[in-house]
Amino acid sequence: MCDKGLPYTPEKLQTALVSNSEYLTKVYSKYTKEEKRLLEEGFRAGQPGSLFQLITVHSDSDWILAHPEEPEDFEAFYRKPYRKTPNESQSTIYIQTIGSFGEVAAQTDQYVEWLRDYCQAFFYGLSVKLLPAVAVSETKCSFRVNSNSYNLQILTGDLLQFLKKRKPKDAFCIVGITMIDLYPKDSWNFVFGQASLTEGMGVFSFARYDDNFYKRSYAGRLKKHLQPRQEDYSVFDGYYTPPITSTLLLRSCKTMTHEIGHMFGISHCQWLSCVMQGSNHLDESDRRPLDFCPICLRKLQFAIGFNIAERYKALLHWMDEDQTQTSVKASASHTDPHFTKPTEAFHASKLWVCRCLEIMEKDQ
Ligand SMILES: [Zn+2]
Ligand SMILES: [Zn+2]
Repeated sequence: MCDKGLPYTPEKLQTALVSNSEYLTKVYSKYTKEEKRLLEEGFRAGQPGSLFQLITVHSDSDWILAHPEEPEDFEAFYRKPYRKTPNESQSTIYIQTIGSFGEVAAQTDQYVEWLRDYCQAFFYGLSVKLLPAVAVSETKCSFRVNSNSYNLQILTGDLLQFLKKRKPKDAFCIVGITMIDLYPKDSWNFVFGQASLTEGMGVFSFARYDDNFYKRSYAGRLKKHLQPRQEDYSVFDGYYTPPITSTLLLRSCKTMTHEIGHMFGISHCQWLSCVMQGSNHLDESDRRPLDFCPICLRKLQFAIGFNIAERYKALLHWMDEDQTQTSVKASASHTDPHFTKPTEAFHASKLWVCRCLEIMEKDQ
């Protein structure tokens, strides 16, 4: 683990971004001077006032120390055999909600709509669609009560099987999201999520992003002696869901975009502080910024082909959006309460996106 977490020289970052390949250098030269100015801000990482930051290591259990592998530069990404690029017939990201998010159905609808809108800005140029939400029982999945924490958990493999059947023909990928905790096999305590990159699908839980999850008072704990039968999904009726807070929304947006980023074949980032950094624990994922470093940004831009400034504007618009304009779509009831998008936790990210746009807009 020689130089893990230590800064790369600007020259090394330049090669990681632009590459030594003649062809890829030529492709890079097609960026506008404003776009290059933004991307090359990365070479200043760590200097006072820099837009991009170096990765910092806070503890021995941090992801970067546990994964001493070659960092993936742009060229390595480009040459990857299983890299996936959206094409005309498969360019939609589908989100499948499993179980409820919030105490009333309208709240689930609204929360998922915010996530959808965010992903649509983040993967700018692709369309992001919601599949009709399903109850846990509809997935026919196996489930259990965790024998240490006594909360309900769903088997990820069964959810992936379910998603495979639900995946529309025009899907670039399908992502299942749930507020119920997950496990990948009996011998495991839990898992945040599981994905199959070759099949373009993944399932992720936000259950552990609840601030109370690890507290003894956590309301998702069942009575210790409860052993529900496998066919009896009634235990999920009215089961605890975390309160919808700004922090939960921030964490959900980060997880969704990180995981969908993997669907493009983008590996964990080891270059700079970046939403694609791996994380071993909640502290570490909270430290990740909301957006890409320049090297990962080039990977996504290459896959989708968006205008970089337009993408930042769309993200800013989502963070800025007039709260009263958001409405619950597809809701049959007129008595549904209105939910305000809690964006306070996005404040620092919003200022950061503004700076990106300023850097791109300034006259030079
Ligand atoms: Zn990851
Ligand atoms: Zn990165």
